[in-house]
Amino acid sequence: MTSSLTELSIAAASEALRARKFSARELTQAHVDAIAALDSQLNAFITQTPELALAGADQADAALSRGDAGKLAGIPLGIKDLFCTTGVRTTAASRILGHFVPPYESTVTANLLRDGAVFLGKTNLDEFAMGSSNESSAFGPVTNPWSPPGKALVPGGSSGGSAAAVSAGLAMGATGTDTGGSIRQPASLCGIAGMKPTYGRCSRYGVVAFASSLDHPGPFGRSVADCATLLGSMAGFDPKDSTSADRAVPDFAAACARGVKGLRIGVPREYRQDGMAQEIDALWEQGLAWLRDAGATVVDVSLPHTKYGLAAYYIVAPAEASSNLARYDGVRFGLRGQTNGDLDDLYELTRAEGFGEEVQRRILIGTYVLSAGYYDAYYTRAQKVRALILRDFTEAFGQVDALLTPTTPNAAFAQGEKVDDPVTMYLNDVFTVPADLAGIPAMSVPAGLDGAGLPLGLQVMGRPFDEETVFAVGAAIEKSAGFTARPRLRAGV
Ligand code: GLN
Repeated sequence: MTSSLTELSIAAASEALRARKFSARELTQAHVDAIAALDSQLNAFITQTPELALAGADQADAALSRGDAGKLAGIPLGIKDLFCTTGVRTTAASRILGHFVPPYESTVTANLLRDGAVFLGKTNLDEFAMGSSNESSAFGPVTNPWSPPGKALVPGGSSGGSAAAVSAGLAMGATGTDTGGSIRQPASLCGIAGMKPTYGRCSRYGVVAFASSLDHPGPFGRSVADCATLLGSMAGFDPKDSTSADRAVPDFAAACARGVKGLRIGVPREYRQDGMAQEIDALWEQGLAWLRDAGATVVDVSLPHTKYGLAAYYIVAPAEASSNLARYDGVRFGLRGQTNGDLDDLYELTRAEGFGEEVQRRILIGTYVLSAGYYDAYYTRAQKVRALILRDFTEAFGQVDALLTPTTPNAAFAQGEKVDDPVTMYLNDVFTVPADLAGIPAMSVPAGLDGAGLPLGLQVMGRPFDEETVFAVGAAIEKSAGFTARPRLRAGV
C-alpha cells in the first residue's frame, strides 16, 4: 500500500480520501517515509517539515470527516524554497538567507493551505532561482532521479528540487517559479508536467524576487491534470501584488478534457535549430502528428525575433536581479559580515560571503547593463527586443490557438558538465525564455525518452490568460504519448 500511495494522481488520491479508503495521515506518512528513504540520494529538500505535514494531514482528516474539506485536502506537496512560509525557514538556497524565518506567508502557499494542502517541506533550487541545473544552490546539487547507476545527472533548474521530488514520488505536486524556464526545463528533464501561467495569474507576493517583471509562480505535477488542479488553487487576484491580474480563475482541470478538435497549432520555424539533437526534432514531429490525429490543424508560423530572446533575457533578468538583490546588505535581515564598524566594509563582506558565484555574476552583469554609459546600448535595447518578441507572439496568435515546440535543446546532462561555462549553461533556456519575456502561458509535457532512456518534454504555449487551451493541448499530447516511464530512483522501489 505504502508505495502505491506515492504513485497516485491528485484526482485519484482526493477521491480515495473522500471515500475514506485511506486517511490523509497515511498518505502524508507514505511521503514522509519516501523522503526519509530517498532524499539522502536526491537532496531535493532543503528543509523537511514532517511534523507540520502530519499535523496538517490530521486537520485534513478532521475536515474530511466533517464534510467541509477543501479541494486539496490532505494532498502532500513540496514548496520551492523561494516561497515565504510563516515560521518555516526560507533560504532561496542562499547563504545570505540561510537562517531567514519569514513572519508571513506567500499568497500562493496561503491559497494552497486554504484548500487543505499539506506541505512536506521546502525544496532545493539554484541560488535565488538563478541557474538551469540546481548546481548553484548553497545547499548542494540535486540529483535527477533518472540518473543511471554511478552517474549523477542534473534535474534542471532552477526548481530542480521540486521537479525531482515530484518525479521520484516524494511529493504529489510542487510549486515552482519560472523566470526564464525554471518550471518547464526541470519538468522536461525529470519527466513530469510543469506549467508557467500568464504573468499576473499567480501572485508574486511573498516569493523572493529574482526579476520582478519575469517571475511567474506555477505548479509541477506528474500529469497535466494535476498541474491544472494545483494552478486552480494557486492562482487568483491579489491586491498585495500590484501586477496581479484581476481575472476570474477558470476551471483549468475541466479544460484538460476539451480535446483539440478544430484547434490550430502553430510550428514556429525559428525554433528549429542547427545542431539540435535529431531525437528532439523527431519527437517534435511526433507531437505534431499526434495533434493532427486528434483533430487539430498544424500550420507554420514565424516568430522572427526568437533569436534575440536569450540575449535580451540575460540583460533584463540580471538588471532586475541586481536591483532586487540590493536589499541584502547585512543591515536589516539575513547574514551579516563581521566588520570593525565601517558601513562599506559591512556591505562588501556580507555580499561577498553571502552570495555564490552565479549570483555575483548576475549582479555584476546587471549593474553593468544599467550603468549610465551602457544603459541605452544594453538595457533599453533589450526592452525593445522584448516588445518585438511580444509582438511576434501576438501576430502568431492571430493565426493559431497554440504553439508547439520542444521544451529544451537537450535531455538531462551530468553534474559538473556545464557549470564552468555559463554561456553553454544559459543556452539551456533558448526555447523557454521567449514565453517569459512575453508573459504568455506555457507548459512542458513529458512526451518521450531519448536513446539513453532519459525523458524529453514538449512545450505548449498559448495566448495570454488562455491557460485552458494550453492544458487542453497538453492533455492531448499526454494522452497520445502514453508516457508511463518512471525514474530509477523513486519511492517504494
Ligand atoms: N535558467 C534561467 C536563469 O538562470 C532561468 C531561471 C528561472 O527561470 N528562474 O536565469
